[in-house]
Amino acid sequence: MATADYPSCVPNWINAKQVLSCSGGDIAKLSPASGEEICRVTRSNKEDVTTAVYAAMRATRDWSATPGVQRGEILRNVVIELQRQRETVAETVAMETGKAYREALGETDAAVAQGFFMAAEGQRLYGRTTTSAVANRYSVTVRQPIGVAGLIIAANTPIANVAWKVFPALVCGNTAVLKAAEDAPLTAWLFADIANQAGLPAGVLNVIQGLGSECGAALVENSDVAVISFTGSTAVGKRIAMTAGERLARVSLELGGKNPLVVCDDADLENAVNWASLSAFSNAGQRCAAGSRIIIFDSIYEEFRDRMLARTRALKVGPTDKDDLGPVINERQLDNMLASIDTAVASGATLLCGGKRLDDAAHAGGFYLQPTIIEHAAEDSAISTEELFGPIACLYRVRDYAAALALANNSRYGLTACIHTTNVHRATDFTHKVQAGVAVVNAGTYGSEPHMPFGGHRQSGNGSREPGTEALDVYSELKVIYVNIDPAKV
Ligand code: NAD
Repeated sequence: MATADYPSCVPNWINAKQVLSCSGGDIAKLSPASGEEICRVTRSNKEDVTTAVYAAMRATRDWSATPGVQRGEILRNVVIELQRQRETVAETVAMETGKAYREALGETDAAVAQGFFMAAEGQRLYGRTTTSAVANRYSVTVRQPIGVAGLIIAANTPIANVAWKVFPALVCGNTAVLKAAEDAPLTAWLFADIANQAGLPAGVLNVIQGLGSECGAALVENSDVAVISFTGSTAVGKRIAMTAGERLARVSLELGGKNPLVVCDDADLENAVNWASLSAFSNAGQRCAAGSRIIIFDSIYEEFRDRMLARTRALKVGPTDKDDLGPVINERQLDNMLASIDTAVASGATLLCGGKRLDDAAHAGGFYLQPTIIEHAAEDSAISTEELFGPIACLYRVRDYAAALALANNSRYGLTACIHTTNVHRATDFTHKVQAGVAVVNAGTYGSEPHMPFGGHRQSGNGSREPGTEALDVYSELKVIYVNIDPAKV
């Protein structure tokens, strides 16, 4: 496995050059697995953002004039280089998130698949050719670039998050300023390095490091940023929408979830337990699509709960390939989770397992939470309604299908949902009636493929969808062209 030559202080990439913030400040990036400092990260301010946006604006003229097919070819070279360096990228992802290398490699390969799909869109970028009410008139639609894209991402699956935004933004002919997640600075830094090595023209992709409230906010406020795509919490998403709304900049929001997984009385229980466990605890529950509300029919409640508890108690927590889940991303998030569990128990919920920080010798210093299962939480309590983004799931007992569907929909979020049943009528009814952007039968609450749209209802988003070809709608302007010809001049 190759190891990247990491900088001691992660710089910005502006116009294909590595530069530290003019603020002179930096922040620490700690290892979630050990709590030790991995590196410093340059603390960018408004001035750095202005410089990066300016570099992107200057690159827009040539990049937007480059034919889509050629843009796709250049991006394909970036993907090939990403694939060639997949082990280094995975090593970087594992180091800064604390997840197992095996998982990080899977995530890197997903980013590569995403890249290949989007690079090939350069050969399509389909519009519509249609008829007209007027004789001798030809009507078509074409996709045109919007300008500079401001891309802001979360740290949970850092290389996948980069790929989801950068490839569609660039293939559509925009240039970009990517605001790296402060908890995953090295992955974004390495990606830009790889893109430069692969021949992406200078200024087409710029990367800004630092705090969301500082350089993230400055990017959103910058009036030269024409489209903003954000993956992160609903609270920050709302703030971004308000700021961008002031100047009517286009905004795509990929936000949080509180995703239900329903287990019916006719479910294959072993399969349901397996998927409920993966949905709740994989990536330490740090998935927007994590299954944090497990809704179980009355008649099988005890049996399911006991099997789920046995499965959960057997999970291994740690950063290696032999472990089932790793740490959470930082200590602040861990403390929030512990406080939420305490509040839930104080309000009458029952802690069935987990609920504590792991601080024995094997986990000392790291940000590890035991996988946690809670029952008897009130449906309107904070733990039932607020996203925790950690390895915490609540069990709910319902009398029948109607109650299960009602509880599944009793949320201000609507990202993903799943039902376990062998009844085709129930499965079909649920997938149609559940308020979610993704509905799954007999598997997990998660699942996204490069060619399929992903996004949520309600407060899980603002109606946009990425990736899939639907992502092209986020990053391009649609223009209708009418050509009127004079038959006499043919
Ligand atoms: P967060 O909202 O705190 O931060 C996300 C990003 O926004 C970071 O890069 C951060 O620096 C930046 N940011 C913070 N404040 C900002 C501001 N005022 N202006 C501009 N940028 C700002 O979220 P997080 O805790 O890092 O990530 C977890 C959240 O992301 C969860 O809610 C999760 O569900 C969501 N998420 C959603 C998806 C999806 O596709 N729907 C995918 C992954 C994660």
